[in-house]
Amino acid sequence: MATLFKLLRQESISTQNKGMRECAALMRSLMEEVGVCTRLFETKGHPILYGELLTDKHAPTLLIYGHYDVQPPDPLSEWETPPFEPTVRDGRIFARGAGDNKGQIVAQLLGIKTYQEACGALPVNIKIVIEGEEEMGSVHLPDFVQSNKELLQADLVYTADGPSHESSSPLVLLGVRGILSFEIELQNAEFDNHSGNTGNIVPNPAWDLMELLQTMRSTDGRVLIEGFYDNIRPASAEEEQLLATLPFEKDSVAQKIGYPHLDIDGKSYYRKLALEPTFNICGLKSGYLEDGIKTIIPSKASVKIDARLVVDQDPKDIFEKVTAHVKARRPDAKVTFLGAMEPSRTPVETAIVQKALKGISACFNEEPLIQPSLGGSLPDYVWTKLLHAPSLLVPYANFDQRNHSPNENLAIRHFLNGIRCTAHVIHAVGQN
Ligand SMILES: [Zn+2]
Repeated sequence: MATLFKLLRQESISTQNKGMRECAALMRSLMEEVGVCTRLFETKGHPILYGELLTDKHAPTLLIYGHYDVQPPDPLSEWETPPFEPTVRDGRIFARGAGDNKGQIVAQLLGIKTYQEACGALPVNIKIVIEGEEEMGSVHLPDFVQSNKELLQADLVYTADGPSHESSSPLVLLGVRGILSFEIELQNAEFDNHSGNTGNIVPNPAWDLMELLQTMRSTDGRVLIEGFYDNIRPASAEEEQLLATLPFEKDSVAQKIGYPHLDIDGKSYYRKLALEPTFNICGLKSGYLEDGIKTIIPSKASVKIDARLVVDQDPKDIFEKVTAHVKARRPDAKVTFLGAMEPSRTPVETAIVQKALKGISACFNEEPLIQPSLGGSLPDYVWTKLLHAPSLLVPYANFDQRNHSPNENLAIRHFLNGIRCTAHVIHAVGQN
């Protein structure tokens, strides 16, 4: 735990460029302490650490991925103890980065060390990539992977990040949804007009925007943009099977998401979350919304949309389709790209994935829950698409780790299980 505490005391807020160099240097020394030969790669942003521990060129190679940056700790007044002074209370380590992701990456490093101490030589080659920009969207990771494909070649990518399942059963994620964000802006008049003096004369862009949005999605939620669903990979029989076995308690989920009207069965819940795309309005803006009323016809109306995408939808292709749809109806509309990340999914039947799953079962004495995809987005495609390697995400942190929030914490039991799990996975993947 001393190793982890050293790392937690070092702030490393990537978005504010606080302590990043210092944390990278510290991370590097921790990697070297467990025998990992480490190099620091400069990027246009924060550096990436790459380490290797190569044993036998015929053995499979496991690539471990994590990040040393953290979210800002604000609001500071809500922390019971200061965010960069790790403190143990009730069997938990409280600190910013305890779970996300310093505690989990240290568990992986200590898992490697534990295996060597207990069993001697590793049955796998280890490669490690630890970046400093995950909390700002992994801006330079794709370029790094693209230009170091040879160096990073691996048989399986193994990430420990995120919270484990609320049932406390081990959880395995085999992919993520991607994301495409964009904004549509309509402008009619050059400025806001008097709603009486020009009422019925100047058209209102807020109404136009609503009409446009109605052409993009049907009332039952189906996206009406031509070709939106074209490239979606159908779920395999194994994936269908997995969805049906995931535990689901409607009332408990309803309470957690603050939506008491939730009316869905478990299989549909996981299918909608993991295997179906979304088309979400995340913000709408037009006219006057302050106190009182201002009788104007607004000159502009805009909407921000984030669409979560599933394999093999390509965010660039979807953006072109959206733009074409909008321009066909409003050639003067401004459609602005705001960001994207590709989706990924590793088939559960992949042989090396099956081996790793055996290791996880052996560690926990229990079959892990396997979710074909996370609802959220992570840059997992850099491994599956750029490196063509299967990728597995095993969250080590407790369900209530409060990552990104005040009082982030990692249960010590979860930390120790993470160390054991890493050692078991190394062992299992190394078996013929
Ligand atoms: Zn995070």
